[in-house]
Amino acid sequence: MNRASNEGVHVVQRGKVWLVGAGPGDPELLTMRAHELLVNADIVAYDELVSPAILGLAPRKAERIAVGRRGNGCRHHDARIHPLVVQRALEGRDVVRLKGGDPLVFGRGGEEAEELAAARIPFGVVPGISAALGAAASARIPLTHRDCASSVTLATGHPAGTGTVLRWPADGTLVLYMALGRLAETCARLVAEGRPATTPAAIVSRATLPDERVVVGTLADIAPRAQEARVQPPALLIVGEVVARRVESSAAPRAIRRAG
Ligand code: SAH
Repeated sequence: MNRASNEGVHVVQRGKVWLVGAGPGDPELLTMRAHELLVNADIVAYDELVSPAILGLAPRKAERIAVGRRGNGCRHHDARIHPLVVQRALEGRDVVRLKGGDPLVFGRGGEEAEELAAARIPFGVVPGISAALGAAASARIPLTHRDCASSVTLATGHPAGTGTVLRWPADGTLVLYMALGRLAETCARLVAEGRPATTPAAIVSRATLPDERVVVGTLADIAPRAQEARVQPPALLIVGEVVARRVESSAAPRAIRRAG
């Protein structure tokens, strides 16, 4: 507990909250800073997307606070930060708030940060490998390519609230988070908005996890293919010519082999 003495009166200083990116799932994809905070954590508040292997890195005696609900990858839950996180920080304790991927990419990290700032709770942000980057590397799909894609857009396939109209660019690589629930509708709309139905598309499900799956097709058939393959959330949709540039290789070493 952080205490400061002020003329003999002890006041409890607020604890600090770390908004920490846990990456796409594979614990080896944590940053060193995230790892350091996690293995020394006293209190861990985590999203459903954080894999058990990562959560297992926290000390056994650490208090664990489950935040969010099970759903299609990322259900729209209450935007407010979990009240226990705020309470613990006001009690003077530091909290590691673990979020899947990167905390500031569709992770509501911005909303939590606003709330922490309003409660005058100091906080830090530790970036993580966002699912798009983890999925691209794992599936070996370049996100940009000098021949065919000079931009990449990270977007959501699921509107955040009623009445929100999603806008997607008509060219460049498009990576859609939370796209599985409305996949057929999404692909049809991309075609209606001008992308050829023959545009290569891929679904990467559970990227970097042991049961990762990649389904490749085109905007015309990726939805039935994904359904047939029964891909599981969380999953991303990658659209663009880059999907055809996927470099398959039999050698997929998980770690660098050390000499000697
Ligand atoms: N902050 C996270 C995104 C949270 S939104 C990040 O930066 O990655 C949740 C969505 O992320 C899911 O619906 C899915 O589209 C995507 N996602 C998260 N983990 C994933 C994984 N391991 N494989 C594929 N998609 C993933």
